[in-house]
Amino acid sequence: MKESLGGVLLDFLFLWEVIMTKYVFVTGGVCSGLGKGITASSIALLLKAKGYKVFMQKFDPYMNVDPGTMSPIQHGEVFVTADGCETDLDLGHYERFIDEELNYTSNITNGKIYSSVIEKERRGDYLGATIQIVPHISNEIKNKIYEAGVSSKADIVITEIGGTVGDIESSVMMESLRQFRMEQGVENSLFVHTTLVPYLFGSNELKTKPTQNSIIDLRRLGIQPDIIVTRSNMELGDAIKNKISLFGSIPKENIIEAIDVNNIYQIPINFHKQNIEDIILNQFKLPIQPSNLKYWEDLIDTVSNLKKEIEISLVGKYVELHDAYLSVMEALKHAGYKHNRKVIINWVNSESLEKENANLDEIFKNSKGILVPGGFGQRGIEGKIKACEYARTHNIPYLGLCLGMQIAVIEFARHVCQIEDASSREFKETCKNPIIDLMAEQKTIINMGGTLRLGNYECSIQKNTLTHKIYKADKILERHRHRYEFNNKYKEELEKHGLVFSGINEPSNLVEIIEYPKHPFFVACQFHPEFKSRPTRPHPLFDAFLKAAIDYKK
Ligand code: GLN
Repeated sequence: MKESLGGVLLDFLFLWEVIMTKYVFVTGGVCSGLGKGITASSIALLLKAKGYKVFMQKFDPYMNVDPGTMSPIQHGEVFVTADGCETDLDLGHYERFIDEELNYTSNITNGKIYSSVIEKERRGDYLGATIQIVPHISNEIKNKIYEAGVSSKADIVITEIGGTVGDIESSVMMESLRQFRMEQGVENSLFVHTTLVPYLFGSNELKTKPTQNSIIDLRRLGIQPDIIVTRSNMELGDAIKNKISLFGSIPKENIIEAIDVNNIYQIPINFHKQNIEDIILNQFKLPIQPSNLKYWEDLIDTVSNLKKEIEISLVGKYVELHDAYLSVMEALKHAGYKHNRKVIINWVNSESLEKENANLDEIFKNSKGILVPGGFGQRGIEGKIKACEYARTHNIPYLGLCLGMQIAVIEFARHVCQIEDASSREFKETCKNPIIDLMAEQKTIINMGGTLRLGNYECSIQKNTLTHKIYKADKILERHRHRYEFNNKYKEELEKHGLVFSGINEPSNLVEIIEYPKHPFFVACQFHPEFKSRPTRPHPLFDAFLKAAIDYKK
């Protein structure tokens, strides 16, 4: 009896949250790369600035359960949430814009949806039904949207749908959104569609046909957009807006222009000037309070008036695709904002450093800091070790992130402690001295997906270290994504030569941060601080690294 009462109460609370939450969906048309993620983030930021609690979610229509097993060249960076989910890089934009921690409900893929439905079918949950795309898959998708609303207790959930309208992959997701609108009505659900209005050279005009067609594509799926966000490289003007309004059945004021900008953080302000948040709140019949955007306007002001430049070398193996290092790039920029510097990244392909005739003096000539970010696999490792050695021996500030820390200790073991054949089991299974090794529990793992050490872990910071000065804290929480660990067997030897293990995860006795006090700034960590950096609040490690880079004198 008690249990069923509790059950009824839970059902009621669930329903209450569903009723109270409003849902914004952001779709994209014409082509990819129009900035749907930034559009969704900007809308969320503006609604938050009006005093509403927001939460964000991304639907990715691929069959991978998560992007964790994908190559960064395919997909760009894998962003990690505090609760340890490997997610799409757009979640990084979301967190940086709305400054809220997202979680496992924030990134849903077709792979996740299908495997969950198949698991339920195998368990017998469907009681003999024939399992179909509609309603079983579509219900599962809708449930994920409701779950985000209920678990976050947000006033407004903003869900971005990856891909482009008309893709086979996303068709069930779109069908679920159609049903969602039926269930929730216009007062509780709103569709924002982002499209392209290209400028044609020669005929010198902006063209609305791709936008018109894309709206037709959306309507074919049973969805009429409420707001159109048009990406263009110039102002549309009245005539173009009238045309989109007429053919798309969109009130003219609901056409929001997203004109190209140099700095993505400008977009919320541009949308705010066109009242996008008021349009949304009006449709939801929610009260409209004044916006609190002063902090963001100050940020734009800082970003647009950076007086000096500073070059940092980023040594990685996926440097041809900058998106593979998106959060690192952003974190460097954020530190730059604080120190009034425009950070120029010198992209260094680690494999190029391995060539015999590689001229490191030339490559790092203008760099005031060297950063080795995360990575997997053996390719390009020796080049990274060379870059780290160069930074150490030339007193150039060094920041190592995850793999960058493993590189730093291997380099130190090889060249300072003279430990022969020092390496990581990841690069050389048979190495004599595995300074970096697999933990016992990782040795029995068969599945690659979702089995890394992921998400938040605690780190205790040793007093009287540079790290302690940087963090000004005894305990911190940072996000992880790695399989290998520092091998404590070598700790004493490295310490004897001056390396300091300044951050430790005490429960598992794992090395989290190292520093080398004989060097002006040689700091590396086993986690990914870049995920926690915010434009208005740079991460302490990036902040300190950039400060050291500014102070660096050859
Ligand atoms: N490849 C290393 C490991 O798995 C480092 C991972 C990373 O840099 N994210 O431990």
